[in-house]
Amino acid sequence: MSFRLSPAWWPFLAVASPLIIPWLLIKNRQFQEDRERVVQMNQNRIDQAEPLEMPEINFLELAVVVEWKAKEGFISDAGVSYLFRTDLGSMLYDVGFGPTRPAFAHNLSKLGLDLDQMDSLTISHLHCDHMGGLPAQRCRKVTVPKDLLPGKEKACYLPDMAEAEGFKAQVIEKPQLLAAGIASSGPLARSLFMMGLTEEQALLARIKNKGLAVFTGCGHPTMEVVLKMAGRLSGEPLYAVGGGLHMPVTDGRGNRAGIKFQTFLGTGKPPWQKIDDKDLNRTIDAINAAGPKKVYLSGHDTCDYALDRMKRELKAETKVLQAGETYRI
Ligand SMILES: [Zn+2]
Ligand SMILES: [Zn+2]
Repeated sequence: MSFRLSPAWWPFLAVASPLIIPWLLIKNRQFQEDRERVVQMNQNRIDQAEPLEMPEINFLELAVVVEWKAKEGFISDAGVSYLFRTDLGSMLYDVGFGPTRPAFAHNLSKLGLDLDQMDSLTISHLHCDHMGGLPAQRCRKVTVPKDLLPGKEKACYLPDMAEAEGFKAQVIEKPQLLAAGIASSGPLARSLFMMGLTEEQALLARIKNKGLAVFTGCGHPTMEVVLKMAGRLSGEPLYAVGGGLHMPVTDGRGNRAGIKFQTFLGTGKPPWQKIDDKDLNRTIDAINAAGPKKVYLSGHDTCDYALDRMKRELKAETKVLQAGETYRI
């Protein structure tokens, strides 16, 4: 399938266009307004950010619970859930599609993990592939399978107002140290056409004798913005970057009913414009300019074409994350 929207939909669009076009125009006005506002918001946040006191950790280990690429025996899904372990504790970053799809519970158990072993939960942003499924996104409540809830309430660090079932929700408003020696970039925003203004927080850690590691969820605020913020928060050389970059250039993940959803949703562009090679070039240039030694790409919102280009063109040692794999960062 090479069309973003299967030709089977085109007659329907033609018939519905008197309704769809005015709706798109109204949406577009809000989207453009938010786009200007977001540029200013992010710039102010970066300008006002003070260097963060981050403890030096001896090691950072990443066990991938949910990803698009998966090791044999693990379930692949277009969501994200990463467990970070350091010598100071552990933190789960996102919960994929939570209870609505089998990957999160299956892969967690296959890795021999449960939520009781984790000190805290951080949610990158309030999208269904990170906070526990579509019902979770609709009612703004982070959701994990009920039978997996930890016995004791733990902190859940959120980038925006939301609840977290079975956790103590805490909204992070600016860059700060969270737990396990891991810090939040604080919310960074992006105007998304369908989903509106979206806040996302990246994770940062300072690894002894290596430098700074930065991980994103979907990467909506763009790597350029995340790396600018990281540079304000720490003077350490950048050692590793990883996570989602939202680069569905030739394809999307989780396509349904002839629609490549990721090429329309979450791109930071109106639906009639697509993510293209120029966007990918900017991301590659930003990462190369920042000069990390290692890059850990997420395939959950980036197509194989873009992953291959990045593997070839990034100067860092570049890997594509796989569910079921553990990485010593
Ligand atoms: Zn995502
Ligand atoms: Zn997203």
